[in-house]
Amino acid sequence: MIIDASATIAYKCSSCGTFEFVTLTLFELLSGKEIEYNCRCNGSKLVICKENSDSYKVVIPCIACGDSHVYILEKKAFIKQDISVFNCPKTGLKQCFIGNDRDVRKRVDKLEKEFDELINMFGYDNYFCNTQVMFDSLNIIHDIAAKGNLFCECGNDDIELILFSDKIYLRCKKCPASKIIYASTNEHFRENLKLNQILLLDEGLDLKNILSEFIIRKK
Ligand SMILES: [Zn+2]
Ligand SMILES: [Zn+2]
Ligand SMILES: [Zn+2]
Repeated sequence: MIIDASATIAYKCSSCGTFEFVTLTLFELLSGKEIEYNCRCNGSKLVICKENSDSYKVVIPCIACGDSHVYILEKKAFIKQDISVFNCPKTGLKQCFIGNDRDVRKRVDKLEKEFDELINMFGYDNYFCNTQVMFDSLNIIHDIAAKGNLFCECGNDDIELILFSDKIYLRCKKCPASKIIYASTNEHFRENLKLNQILLLDEGLDLKNILSEFIIRKK
């Protein structure tokens, strides 16, 4: 009897930030050859090679910290029912899901549904310089706020959020303090991942100035 055991790997591309799906059969692995998969953007690749008789090494470049990470994948993972989640050891970003096809796609769908909601809200895909970085940065801010670490120097934590094509403008609802979080490049995303708390300060940033700059640039 031939059992076609296969596993799906979803990994976050270090270049375009979207999840790329790879379906791998145990048969392919057993061939012992090094296997490479490119993201559809051709900006990153995942490499799988043999570690020892029971496990394989999965090497993935990380969008979050800029390094590559090595995850150990055991043969057992191909027959296991639950899915393995690998996080970047430096930033905790969910970098890779491995397991049965249906569950892996379900996990990624859940992440991408929120992403689609953001796009629907803005009506079109090209409002942002980099929609993926904007989305990931918004999630970071959301997590910081959920932990109670987003607040203003005046003590207020009721913060308004305004989205520009390349940045997120945070404004205190009670005083003139504000903060700009840039979100248009992978570099910005990496910087934003380092944030543990966000404190709004009154540095004389006025939304009117930012808006006029924005309008001038749009023309
Ligand atoms: Zn890509
Ligand atoms: Zn990393
Ligand atoms: Zn304030």
